[in-house]
Amino acid sequence: MSRTTIPKEAELRNWAARELSTQGSVSLDKMPRLEAVTLGAQSEAHASLACRRDEQHRYLVDISTDMTVVMQCQRCLMPCDVDLRAAATLCVLWDDDAASELPASYDPLISGDTSNLHALVEDELLLALPAVPMHSREECRHSGNEFGNGAEAEVPQRENPFAALGDLLKADPVEDSAEKN
Ligand SMILES: [Zn+2]
Repeated sequence: MSRTTIPKEAELRNWAARELSTQGSVSLDKMPRLEAVTLGAQSEAHASLACRRDEQHRYLVDISTDMTVVMQCQRCLMPCDVDLRAAATLCVLWDDDAASELPASYDPLISGDTSNLHALVEDELLLALPAVPMHSREECRHSGNEFGNGAEAEVPQRENPFAALGDLLKADPVEDSAEKN
């Protein structure tokens, strides 16, 4: 188990030309944007970056990272562990202009001479955040309680405007007859 922190900064074009790579950890306190949207982390992020050039002489970084963060379950409002996992191939570019010409398999990374590797790892983890963090049904304290037991609890609860419309349509004649009386 590696405890090495990956370097904060690197000249990625230089790394790509020399086909350098690194792997190690990044702690949550080095990723303030991720820290701001989570309740904490169960582990440091593990990250690996491998730099290379392709046949068009682009500067590429194969990045992969994973981390278990703590977020608020949107069903029971208690803390829950969320496994984040991300992988991408970044193409190091000087500016936005070249981004439109990139193959779809590459993500643009606009960067000057040096790049902040901790921020790169943080970007990937932020993209991997779930829109609605939740416990699994087995782990969640509200599972099956709030919505009744058995099969009913398995039906996803979502707002259905047509169901509401149906109720209104059914209700109308009753109200009409009540008014007439
Ligand atoms: Zn929950």
